[in-house]
Amino acid sequence: AKQRGRNNYQVFTQDMNKLVERKLKIETSLRSGLVNNEFELYFQPQNDLNTSEIIGAEVLLRWEHPKLGFIPPDEFIPIAEETGLIVPLGDWVLQESCSQLRKWLDVGLPPIRIAVNISSVQLVGSKLPEKIQQVLQANNIDPKLLCVEMTESVMQNKSETLPILKQIKELGVFISIDDFGTGFSSLNYLKDLPIDELKIDKSFLQDILKDPKEKAIVKSIIDLGNNLALHVIVEGIENEDQVKLLKELNCVIGQGYYFNKPLPKEEFEAAVLISNVC
Ligand code: C2E
Ligand code: CA
Ligand code: CA
Ligand code: CA
Repeated sequence: AKQRGRNNYQVFTQDMNKLVERKLKIETSLRSGLVNNEFELYFQPQNDLNTSEIIGAEVLLRWEHPKLGFIPPDEFIPIAEETGLIVPLGDWVLQESCSQLRKWLDVGLPPIRIAVNISSVQLVGSKLPEKIQQVLQANNIDPKLLCVEMTESVMQNKSETLPILKQIKELGVFISIDDFGTGFSSLNYLKDLPIDELKIDKSFLQDILKDPKEKAIVKSIIDLGNNLALHVIVEGIENEDQVKLLKELNCVIGQGYYFNKPLPKEEFEAAVLISNVC
């Protein structure tokens, strides 16, 4: 038994070393990846649940590492946040998103709103409102065509973040609370914060067709949003029955594999054109 215990421990430390090694590799590669243009933006359509028309897109970062291959954002974003590299990376996402939108508007694509994920690390002490204003101006983008998605974690140091959020709101930019209901925040911030949209996390949708509790939670969030005159969007829609149920619950916007996976820019453009013809 003792012998086995030691072997397990050795296996455990080997695995730990591998993890630490990979993390270090990712950390050092983040900076060079940015310089070498290894990142790419994908666009996931957001659809009107009644007409299926594409009314917006969430911008999702993709990274193909030259040696490690595809690294999911759930793995590299937390590392970028820890190291502060999320600031230059986030700046790039914002710039690239707005310049892409400009190109689409120039070729006559309908004016869709693009939603960019913003980490709470980007919010403090990095002149985000000024940067947003500058990027919008440089690309001649109507501020209401830009949405910033932030999680409830921005409320953790409210005294610092609230003035910044208000500044962003004053620009005319749309603000969405991402992963709504999954944080440990109180609902108090809903009355102080200048938000426009609640985004219901995909985890609430997994068993919504079978689990009455899950359905009740989603219904309550949709009602809360509607009562506060906020937009409500649900992510992670994977089938038609979910669409049907969400419509019954008075939700009008959705995003998920049922409509489209996150798409490279050319494919997104084609999807918008098709959705508008129909
Ligand atoms: P998120 O903001 O909650 O984004 C939604 C995630 O759900 C995306 O994963 C998307 O691809 C996935 N998804 C969309 N529809 C479905 C569906 O129907 N079923 C399922 N199972 N999944 C669906 P992704 O692209 O891997 O991104 C993961 C997370 O990484 C994002 O979660 C976000 O927190 C973060 N992230 C991605 N891009 C950026 C970025 O540019 N900046 C920042 N700060 N974070 C980002
Ligand atoms: Ca998001
Ligand atoms: Ca998230
Ligand atoms: Ca989510």
